[in-house]
Amino acid sequence: MKITDIRCAMLGENPVVRVVTDAGVNGYGPVEFTKPYIKPLVALLRDALIGADPTDVERAMLRIRQRGAFKPYGAAVSAIEIALWDIAGRAAGLPVYKLLGGKVRDRVRVYNGGVRYPMTSFAPEDFAASVRAMKAAPHGFTIVKQGIGFHSGMKRTMPGFHIGETRPGHFHGALDRGLMTERSMKHLIECVIAMKQELGDDIGLALDCGPGMMVPDAIRLGRALEPYNIMWLEDMITGDYVPYVNADVYREVTRATSTPVHTGEQIYLRQNFKDLIERHAVNIVGPDPCDVGGLAELKWIAEYADLHGILMAPHGIADGALGIAALVQVSATLPDNYIAFELPAIRPGWWLDILDGFPDPLVKDGFIEVWDRPGLGVDFNIGKASAYLSEADKGFFD
Ligand SMILES: [Mg+2]
Repeated sequence: MKITDIRCAMLGENPVVRVVTDAGVNGYGPVEFTKPYIKPLVALLRDALIGADPTDVERAMLRIRQRGAFKPYGAAVSAIEIALWDIAGRAAGLPVYKLLGGKVRDRVRVYNGGVRYPMTSFAPEDFAASVRAMKAAPHGFTIVKQGIGFHSGMKRTMPGFHIGETRPGHFHGALDRGLMTERSMKHLIECVIAMKQELGDDIGLALDCGPGMMVPDAIRLGRALEPYNIMWLEDMITGDYVPYVNADVYREVTRATSTPVHTGEQIYLRQNFKDLIERHAVNIVGPDPCDVGGLAELKWIAEYADLHGILMAPHGIADGALGIAALVQVSATLPDNYIAFELPAIRPGWWLDILDGFPDPLVKDGFIEVWDRPGLGVDFNIGKASAYLSEADKGFFD
């Protein structure tokens, strides 16, 4: 079997990559909804893969892996890797999880991710209301995550939140950093306590905190929250779109508090997790399969983390419906250090209508049942999906 073409189209808010072969077998790979600009990067990799056997996934990846980088520049490579596994599974008549070593669990735990409620004010009661809604969602989540501090509107709405500039374009552009004021630190802690009171002991609370915090604040926050058994503090130092890791700085924070410290969503490739893992610089790593280099890459990082006593909670909020399929396949195979993956938002909801194969309901009691169809286990209903293609993408499924 040989690769004959690689295409990319927008479907709703998510770009999708299609790898075409001479055997009539196709593979699809997800891209985050935050990356509508990905097409030229996919096109850049296309020529290197024409003629490669897509079922020798690693051999094909060796042609393109060096052409990615930290988020967002690892996305095209990652989507292609996932599409290659989809093809390999379909060609073998097996779900991708079988090719990655087989499943070790029949259902995978997820946390709320895309199930969030917009906030306009950031007082403790607003945070309590937000997690109350997450708790009431029909998904039955056992873990929910909330953005606070630098990772929330708190930074913009609280005058004097931190000692430093607030720059435009926080999530996809500028990085705001600086020491927090005493007032903002106290306020942040009150908000977390309000959320914990709302959630009780049955639902774990994870907090997305940055990036942008300074070491003394990160340690202070971790220590102050020790009585509340927080699941993890995410991306306090680096994260989101920061193109470096800073493992030594993370290590200083992690050694100073028993509250678990988490990072990794923007990191590309196993090599860039090496310091975090070998130096025990964090307690939990959270690569995103759509940015880290794909499914096998994430699996390898999970295994290596487990060897070092480090947990795994993959990122995925923007990976879309196809991303859910990819996350289920790999998460089913991860060692016991697996906690839960971040359930991607489905935008728009008709994505569930153009992909056949998902369980219904998708999430039950906070888990997704692992399904057994070949490849990623979901198939485009091409008649329905084609109707959503723009004029420029009309030939995507041809
Ligand atoms: Mg995050």
